[in-house]
Amino acid sequence: MYNKETITKLNELDRKHYLHPTSSLKQHQESGPKRIFTEGKGIYLTDVNGNQYIDALASLWNVNIGHGRKELGEAASQQMGKLAYSSSFNNLSHETVIQLSEKLASMTPGDLNVFFYTSGGSESNDTAFKLVRHYWKMKGQPEKKKIIGLERAYHGITMGATSATGIPQFHNMTTSISPDFLHAAAHKTNCELGDKSDPDYFRSIRGIIEKESPETIAAIIVEPIQGAGGVIISPDGYLEAVRKLCDQYGILMIADEVICGFGRTGKMFGVDNWNVVPDIMCMAKGITSGYIPLGAVAMTERLRDNLAAVSNDVLFHGFTYSGHPTACAVALKNIEILERENLADNSRQMGPELLKGLKFLEDKHTIVTKSRVKGLLGAFELFEDREQGIPFNPEKMAAPKLVEECLSRGLIVRAVTFGGTNIIALSPPLIITKEEIEKITLILSEAIQAVKNNLKFQNA
Ligand code: PMP
Repeated sequence: MYNKETITKLNELDRKHYLHPTSSLKQHQESGPKRIFTEGKGIYLTDVNGNQYIDALASLWNVNIGHGRKELGEAASQQMGKLAYSSSFNNLSHETVIQLSEKLASMTPGDLNVFFYTSGGSESNDTAFKLVRHYWKMKGQPEKKKIIGLERAYHGITMGATSATGIPQFHNMTTSISPDFLHAAAHKTNCELGDKSDPDYFRSIRGIIEKESPETIAAIIVEPIQGAGGVIISPDGYLEAVRKLCDQYGILMIADEVICGFGRTGKMFGVDNWNVVPDIMCMAKGITSGYIPLGAVAMTERLRDNLAAVSNDVLFHGFTYSGHPTACAVALKNIEILERENLADNSRQMGPELLKGLKFLEDKHTIVTKSRVKGLLGAFELFEDREQGIPFNPEKMAAPKLVEECLSRGLIVRAVTFGGTNIIALSPPLIITKEEIEKITLILSEAIQAVKNNLKFQNA
């Protein structure tokens, strides 16, 4: 616990000098940072006042092995002591990136055996978009450059990733979204299988391909489970249908595994739940459990071989920190822990416990509905009248209020709001136990009761 003077100073300096990502700037200027954290251990974070919080979002869906693992720090320190940095440009290499690539190849499905490295999810997705376009160009089809993503998808904040993202709020930051990114209605399995009777057919991926012509489409990008869009789980059969569609029309399939990868959904990768093998898989977050920035793009050997065969030129794409030795060393140690402690299995086993908790909340609170869980990725929604399907008036800020009530009770969860939709997302560290899930449920229940009381008061 820090003294009052230090806390005041930190608050002042944060307000003065720090522009927070994805935050309300106005609120920050008025009230400063909401919490300043100092320590993390297991599923808990501690703030400057000494208050403890259950990190039920694994911070940003990424701290899969939990906080405070000294082994990762040791791996980083050893690597820095031995070889802090060396570049992979111009076919130079180093031992740790080779080891990580071999390890990832043994984990990823199918022949996704070749890896390009980045520093995060957005860079991974932008890399994928450039790679698929380069691929088609090298094959003599440069007009195949459009990318189809899904409505409500989140793919990041660089220019390409923002364009692929299907959440309109993220488009507000730029006046120029790339016209080569198209958005399809999500999860239209029947349409993707060819059922033209659905009124949404022309908004489906298949409908868009037919309208635009497959000769113009480079790739389709999907999250196996949409995360930031509100934890929307692909229905069984959907990813299989997209894979078939890609094969039918000669289009590459990109899976954005930035949240789903590394055990989050109860399998090592999200696509493993449906036995689908994409052509490209983008990863970040859980690859290092957030201990150091790292992203990766897995591609099939076939894709690499094709590129290598036709391209005599240099691949003019690479980050200074592609394959950073320390990030690779931390990833290797993180993966060792994930495997040693069977955390994908724990995620699969704890999923039903989390769902049980959310169903308990539905039984207890009439404003709670639409609980869903896959592995340790879950959500529920708040409705003014769930029987009649009447959402809360957005002005009531039901989900953001619940997040605040949780925070004041030592629990971190996330609100996803759009239109009248109020979603609460949960994505705890994969080390979580049944007892800890029960604790989360009880805090949520109390916080929901407080929101109910508060909203009733507003109505009176
Ligand atoms: N894709 C998905 C599915 C994500 O959830 C995120 C981040 N939340 C990204 C891409 C972007 O990753 P980053 O923030 O590391 O750039």
